[in-house]
Amino acid sequence: MIGVLALQGDVREHLAALAAAGAPARPVRRPEELAEVAGLVIPGGESTTMSKLAVIFGLLEPLRERVRAGMPVYGTCAGMIMVADKILDGRDDQETIGGIDMIVRRNAFGRQNESFEAGIEVKGIDGGPVEGVFIRAPWVESVGAAAEVLATFDGHTVAVRQDHVLATSFHPELTGDHRVHALFVEMVRQSAQT
Ligand code: GLN
Repeated sequence: MIGVLALQGDVREHLAALAAAGAPARPVRRPEELAEVAGLVIPGGESTTMSKLAVIFGLLEPLRERVRAGMPVYGTCAGMIMVADKILDGRDDQETIGGIDMIVRRNAFGRQNESFEAGIEVKGIDGGPVEGVFIRAPWVESVGAAAEVLATFDGHTVAVRQDHVLATSFHPELTGDHRVHALFVEMVRQSAQT
């Protein structure tokens, strides 16, 4: 079973998108629930609040451990910030889980344009561009050698994968297009077989 981190953010939309992609999922709020899932989606929302709640709920270290141990994770927007090894324009006490060797700048697009939509070609996803919904979105400032850039918009990296961790600046869960979720469901299936 796949989990959706349910501390804060658009949890319901991810649960629905995963179900539509063929993988019914459950919310995860406690370490015991995290221990039971085979993969985890980290939703969009507010990464400073998510970071704070992860500490309060005793989830930050267990999350870091599961990611280090190879659990597949997909982060959208605030979730992308949570899986970044390093962030810019974060709050001083803001923690991330990490998992992708990249530097992510918070609210990067937001400074120019609070929210917008654009067609995004994503490497590994066939059938034309994905509808990208960006809401006070981060962009990826730089990636390390182990991380693969899957998509760019306007010269900025907006989708990245490093091994079992996937991240997008945009929110496929807010559209009817479930191809990115289907890609993640496939990552979880493959990881469960090894
Ligand atoms: N700006 C938010 C943050 O820094 C992310 C916005 C979103 O998830 N749509 O957490």
